[in-house]
Amino acid sequence: MNGTAVNKKDVLIVLMGPPGAGKGSQARMLSEAYDIPQLATGDMLREECQKQTEIGITVSETIKQGQLVADEIVIDLISVRLDQSQNGAILDGFPRTVEQAEALKNMLSAKDRAITAVISLHVSDDVVIERNSGRRTCMTCSKSYHMKFCPPQKADICDDDHGELIQREDDIESKIRQRLDVYVNSTKAVMEHYHNEGLAWDVTGDQDILEVNRDIRNIIGSILNPTN
Ligand code: AMP
Repeated sequence: MNGTAVNKKDVLIVLMGPPGAGKGSQARMLSEAYDIPQLATGDMLREECQKQTEIGITVSETIKQGQLVADEIVIDLISVRLDQSQNGAILDGFPRTVEQAEALKNMLSAKDRAITAVISLHVSDDVVIERNSGRRTCMTCSKSYHMKFCPPQKADICDDDHGELIQREDDIESKIRQRLDVYVNSTKAVMEHYHNEGLAWDVTGDQDILEVNRDIRNIIGSILNPTN
């Protein structure tokens, strides 16, 4: 969209969409395909909670209630990770407010970097509820499964690292609906912000995971090779 050719290793993709839109799964696939890190603020925050750090203790109730954690906390977390990754990155779950989007822009421009594309995954509310309520997440590596659509080989055990699979406390229906409301109220404004900046691309997230991935990679491909 911005018409500038970018190296594959420097792509900086922001994945947006309601909870259960498939951001995490797509971020993992893109991270492997482009050999760049996946920076997921939800995973970072859950890790802080698990380790019972000061941040973890501060945010755990907010996360359980499906509300957004304070901007300063997530901005600090992401800033440290961006400093560690000199090339591109896949941002999964950040930014979620216009304030976070502005902070990201400033962090990146200070390092002479810029967002390559913001991908918005669109899924219906019914799909959001179905995907999240059936989701099970590995305690160790955060990989997600779905009890019906993508079950693990052994019940409650991660195929990759044999970690325990749990249902996140915010993946129960009342909390999913709460997170959907938060998405509509705060995060949609971020999408509008990126549409205005000409960085936003819409992708249908209701399709098969591989088709969603193909659509995203086509978009990135068109930015990497603008003349093709
Ligand atoms: P996720 O794993 O992306 O669904 O995030 C789980 C929870 O972590 C969210 O419901 C929020 O409570 C919190 N969280 C994750 N990322 C952010 C963010 N960028 N801003 C504020 N809160 C966040």
